[in-house]
Amino acid sequence: MLGDGDGWVTCARGHRHWGRYGAAGLLIRTAEAVVLQHRAPWSHHGGTWGLPGGARDSHESVGTAALREAAEEAGIDSGSVRLTGVHTADHGGWSYATVLAEAVGELTPVSANAESVEVRWQTVQAVDHLTLHPGFADTWPALRAAFPPPHLIIDAANVVGSRPDGWWHRRLAAARDLHDQLAVVAESGLEPDSWPKPGRNVGLSWLYPRITMVVEGTASRLSVPVHPSLRVVAADGSGDDAIVGVIREHPGSVVVTADRELRQRVGALHADVVGPRWLWTAIGS
Ligand SMILES: [Zn+2]
Repeated sequence: MLGDGDGWVTCARGHRHWGRYGAAGLLIRTAEAVVLQHRAPWSHHGGTWGLPGGARDSHESVGTAALREAAEEAGIDSGSVRLTGVHTADHGGWSYATVLAEAVGELTPVSANAESVEVRWQTVQAVDHLTLHPGFADTWPALRAAFPPPHLIIDAANVVGSRPDGWWHRRLAAARDLHDQLAVVAESGLEPDSWPKPGRNVGLSWLYPRITMVVEGTASRLSVPVHPSLRVVAADGSGDDAIVGVIREHPGSVVVTADRELRQRVGALHADVVGPRWLWTAIGS
């Protein structure tokens, strides 16, 4: 019900919190900066810096609640961000979900209602010198470490070729099938424990990876609609060279391949590698 989350709750740690079904906030981040809200003096913990956010209604997902609050308080259009993960701070009887996001193109936050004095980009370094909302201060070290957002690079020829299911008769269709399965992963996300390098995601309760699928040969004719989290790169020549190019654009990526030569090149670039079997398990097929 609209607004049914409004109300105070006392958590198991004895704090008073706003939000009968918990609360959610949006953390928009680039490599250098984050969007923060300077809270109005009259509000709870007034004068501190925190995230645009508020009470979650009973019918809302945490993502929906965070995006609604960010629109109400900071004028942020949900189309101008892409969700990358969720961090949950569970106090017992009340929890706060920080929804992590990256800006898609230009994004200028504004103070859109009376709950903020100001909403603006702050550099990541500056956050350490601001007076933070106590909840945000608690979670910031984990949030700060969860960057860059998860990114998978798929060696499509190698992944498709890892299963002897007759793909060689239908290379283009097999690439399309893989694309459609990856689109489901991009939209529904993954549990952080299933990520190949779970140590990076301490404290996160959900991941929404960006996925780049690199195709070559016959499969490079693959034509698919634009997807905000799933990009197809058709290699001009060598698929391996194209994958190395994508790693350079996205440091910290995980490459999915069993190709020994490519694994060595990826290792030299300090990116991570995982085999196709991991991906098939994540896809659930
Ligand atoms: Zn609490």
